[in-house]
Amino acid sequence: HAKQTGRKQWREFDPKFKQITDRQRQIEQDLKDAIQNEVITAWFQPQIDLKTGAVVSFEALVRWLHPHFGFISPPEIINAAQATNLSKALTGLIARNVCALLQELPSHDLAAATVALNISPREFAIYNVAEMLDDVTATYGVSRHSVEVEITEEAILDPDIAGEQLRQMETSGYRLALDDFGIGYSSLAYLISLNIGRLKIDRSIITNISASSVNQALVAAMVGFGRALDVEIVVEGVETSDDVRALEAMGCDVAQGFYYARPMPIDALMTWLQRASNPEQSDISQRVSA
Ligand code: C2E
Ligand code: MG
Ligand code: MG
Ligand code: MG
Repeated sequence: HAKQTGRKQWREFDPKFKQITDRQRQIEQDLKDAIQNEVITAWFQPQIDLKTGAVVSFEALVRWLHPHFGFISPPEIINAAQATNLSKALTGLIARNVCALLQELPSHDLAAATVALNISPREFAIYNVAEMLDDVTATYGVSRHSVEVEITEEAILDPDIAGEQLRQMETSGYRLALDDFGIGYSSLAYLISLNIGRLKIDRSIITNISASSVNQALVAAMVGFGRALDVEIVVEGVETSDDVRALEAMGCDVAQGFYYARPMPIDALMTWLQRASNPEQSDISQRVSA
C-alpha cells in the first residue's frame, strides 16, 4: 500500500469519500428487496392542458423512502440499478405502477389520459425496453396508446442501441416524448425521422420564465418549431401563476409543475383528482381550471 499513488491514497483515506462509498454500497445492497417488496414505487405528477385547464396526462417518477437515508434521488436509484443489474426490474416495477394507474383513470373520467414513464439512455443497451413494455401492458390489458415513453436526446443520438427499440415502440403504438429538451444537443433532424409526439422543454428554461426574455425567446422558437412539426410542447417546472400566464400566451400546450401539483403516491393522486373535479371542494381545482 505504501507504493500507491497519492491520488489513490487520498481516495482510500479521505473519510468523506468512504462515506459516499458506504452509502452507495448500502443502497445497492438494499435495492433488490426494495424493488421486490415494492418499497420503491412510482409517484405521479399531473399534466394540465393550458387551453382548457383539464388534466390530460401524468408522469411517473420513481420514489424510494429508504429507512436510513430518507428519500433517495431518482438518479441515485437509477445508477444503483445499473450497477446491480436491476434496471429491468426497476423500470418493470414503474411500468406496472403506470398500468395500475391507467386502470383507475376511467372511473375519474380520464379514460383518454396518458401516463408517461422515463427511460434512461443506457437502459436500451441493457435489455429490450420495448419487449418489457409489451409484456407489462399485455398483462394489465392496458392500451399501448395510453403509455408515453420519455426519452432524452442522448438516447436518440446512439441509434445503434436505441434506434431499433424506439422504432419498435413507435410501431407498437407507444407515444414518444423527448424529455429535457433545450439543454442538450442541438441536432434536430431526428425529430423528423422519429415520430415524437411531445417535446418537454427543460425545467431550467421554464421556471421563472416571465423574468427572462432570453428564455422567452427560446420557448417561442420551440413553440414555432413544434407547430411546424405538429409536436405538442410540454413545459415542466411551472411554479407560479406568472409562469402559467406567460407560457399560455406563448402558445405552449401542456404544463406540469409544482404550481399545479407535486408528484404524489397513487392514493393521494386519487384524492387530488376527486377534489380537482369538484370545484366547490378545493383551491387545487381553482388552480387547475384557472
Ligand atoms: P424529469 O423526467 O425531467 O422529471 C421532472 C423532474 O422535475 C422531477 O424530478 C419532478 O419532481 C421535478 N419537478 C416537476 N415540477 C417541478 C417544479 O415545478 N419545480 C421543480 N423544482 N421541480 C419540478 P425528480 O422526480 O427528482 O426526477 C429527476 C429526474 O430523474 C427526472 O427528470 C428523470 O430524468 C429521472 N427519473 C425520475 N424517475 C425516473 C424513472 O422512473 N426512471 C428513469 N429512468 N428516470 C427517472
Ligand atoms: Mg421526464
Ligand atoms: Mg425533464
Ligand atoms: Mg430527465
